[in-house]
Amino acid sequence: MSDRVPFNAPTLAGKEFDYIRQALERRHLAGNGHFSKACHGLISDFTGGGRALLTHSCTAGLEMAALLCDLGPGDEVLMPSFTFASTANAVVLRGAVPVFVDIRPDTLNIDETLLEAAVTPRTRAVCVVHYAGVACDMEAISAFARRYGLLVIEDAAQALHATWKGRPLGGFGDFAALSFHETKNVIAGEGGALVVNNPRFALRAEIIWEKGTNRAQFYRGEISRYTWVDLGSSFLPSEVTAAFLLAQLEQSREITRARLQSWNRYHAALAPLEQAGRLRRPLVPAEAGHNGHIYYVLARSAPAREAMLARLGELGVSAVIHYVPLHSAPAGLRFARTPAPMPVTDDVAARLVRLPMHLALTEADVDRVVAALGDATR
Ligand SMILES: *Cc1c(COP(=O)(O)O)cnc(C)c1O
Repeated sequence: MSDRVPFNAPTLAGKEFDYIRQALERRHLAGNGHFSKACHGLISDFTGGGRALLTHSCTAGLEMAALLCDLGPGDEVLMPSFTFASTANAVVLRGAVPVFVDIRPDTLNIDETLLEAAVTPRTRAVCVVHYAGVACDMEAISAFARRYGLLVIEDAAQALHATWKGRPLGGFGDFAALSFHETKNVIAGEGGALVVNNPRFALRAEIIWEKGTNRAQFYRGEISRYTWVDLGSSFLPSEVTAAFLLAQLEQSREITRARLQSWNRYHAALAPLEQAGRLRRPLVPAEAGHNGHIYYVLARSAPAREAMLARLGELGVSAVIHYVPLHSAPAGLRFARTPAPMPVTDDVAARLVRLPMHLALTEADVDRVVAALGDATR
């Protein structure tokens, strides 16, 4: 067999090294300098105009959102279980309780029709995840949150440049957290951002971001010295990271277009296998403009998924599973609450396979993966 088709391959956008050299020449390598501010401007533009703050990860952005929600012991946050551990950890770190809600079988996003039944007097917020960059139904979720006086957090780790009814994701919640981890569409190695869309929280967000001090106000000349005023931590990435990220953000529309080309090629080529009942392709609602973050297929059954993975491996294709549901994970059993059965989450998590998706993927690579899937679903 020839070379393997890797699952992911971090790719340079072009100006990364040039911008890092410029950061050194500016003699400012700590956070919140020239390159961080340029990133803040672009992220704000891309997500609908909220206040953007770079963080060292999406995890950090979610932790900031949990602090801003003032979560405390016994408070509850509704979320899917089909997500990364950070979504739940951010809540647990405040002493609060993630409450898991099942997902929709089409988008694999939180099922908005099940939210109401999971509300208790302790519910403070709902944290939604736009899986694979496909939007949750943000009108239904916002209306639900308004009805119960809840805050909305978007875990938009996978959602840069994706939309719901033409409006950018990351712009709907009171808060949104983005990821620039090397596995995402736009990367900084490790990196992320918090977007604060509700202006009521903008000043406190800046204080939490700056280790609980009002240093940002001091730098703007609004106060004569800065001091410790609130909770906070070290959430800022350095200018080296921001310089790398700016090069990526400037090319992010082109990056998204290139990923969509690979996504669309998979989608067209796999239609016959779906028609033959050998796998299921992703379902994207007409209102959702996605960003080609993940191309996944659902095998017919859990054993068929294991056989598919083994055969793809033999054929040199690096395909991988995704989340082990949090509600049945050891820490999920210990820290979270699951008020109702989770049949869709359990079923989908056992049948999902992610195919190679990255900027170095060629049309020939996609065709080879599709041919391998034909073999692996026989
Ligand atoms: C990647 C991811 C995260 C974590 O992002 P980091 O930047 O690595 O902290 C959180 N939630 C979801 C849904 C993700 O896909």
